[in-house]
Amino acid sequence: MKTKGMLAIVLSLCLLLAGCAQNQNSAPQSSPEPKNTAAPSADLKGYPAFDFEQKTVTLNSGHAMPMLGLGTYALSDSEAENSVYWALKAGFRLIDTAKIYGNEAAVGRGLKRAVNEGIVTREEVFITTKMWTSDYHDGDAAIDASLERLGVDYIDLMILHHSQPADDVNAYQALERGVKAGKLRSIGLSNYYEPDDFDRVVKATSIKPALLQNETHPYHQSGEMKKHIAQYGTVLESWFPLGGRGNTQTLFNDSTISQIAKAHGVSSAQVIIRWHLQAGNICIPGSSSERHIQENYNVWQFALTEEEMAQMSNLERDERFANF
Ligand code: NAD
Repeated sequence: MKTKGMLAIVLSLCLLLAGCAQNQNSAPQSSPEPKNTAAPSADLKGYPAFDFEQKTVTLNSGHAMPMLGLGTYALSDSEAENSVYWALKAGFRLIDTAKIYGNEAAVGRGLKRAVNEGIVTREEVFITTKMWTSDYHDGDAAIDASLERLGVDYIDLMILHHSQPADDVNAYQALERGVKAGKLRSIGLSNYYEPDDFDRVVKATSIKPALLQNETHPYHQSGEMKKHIAQYGTVLESWFPLGGRGNTQTLFNDSTISQIAKAHGVSSAQVIIRWHLQAGNICIPGSSSERHIQENYNVWQFALTEEEMAQMSNLERDERFANF
């Protein structure tokens, strides 16, 4: 009886200590860390949940994808190689490239450098690339060519770069074969802005797109497409998350965004990135500056309040910066 009593006390103490240790690991009181700010709302039934502790989203393919990554559009070879290396060093685990950027090989070199230095393993990094429209007639060869240029034996996510009704179904079917062959883990689409156009591909193929990558930022929040793709468990990824080159100052100097930045003691870029994540958008800001890359990853220590999220929602203008 006595021993049982002692055991119960020891067990309670252990549980108490374990609880304290867990609390110590969680974010400090002053910087509330939302567990799942992007929990699907009634409108977004089926939309994948964002896990802020793991910093990942589980795709409808079953694979976990980091919610924040580095974009490499318009980066030269040396910029892409260095930026990928700096990004992995800073904590990023998602890299976005494309055949048309001409820097897949450089991205592969940046990855290799980080792997060789023991910063990451290949398996810890999520690589996305895109099939260019002129390759849609022979998607199988395009997949092999991307694998070769990246210097990897599988690609985490390959997406079709643009809607092209003449042969994008054909290209998507090649992506499906790539999944079956173990060359691709997940597949998806980019630049489909009309629900019907997205459905055209979905209806003609069998693997539901894991992701849709569209221009998305505070002035073009992609609400309609997000609601539409939720039924397939497809997640939205934002390109031009900061507005894109030449447009970033417009967003950075927006009075709502700069006031929120001031309130949190962070930059406008960090507010926008944090907004994407809390809104349930995978975010891939592009940069060739090590300082900006580090800044862009440093968004885990603060959170936008519900009111600030509502203020950001109100910035919607249905205004795209790009015309492609
Ligand atoms: P972006 O919105 O990420 O903006 C990039 C610009 O912001 C650059 O000029 C960069 O110098 C600047 N910047 C980055 N961080 C900053 C910071 N902390 N402070 C100040 N300035 C900062 O635009 P992007 O790079 O074109 O888009 C993101 C990624 O999306 C691309 O790199 C690419 O991978 C992808 N993308 C895809 C498509 C598509 O058609 N699917 C099109 C464009 C881009």
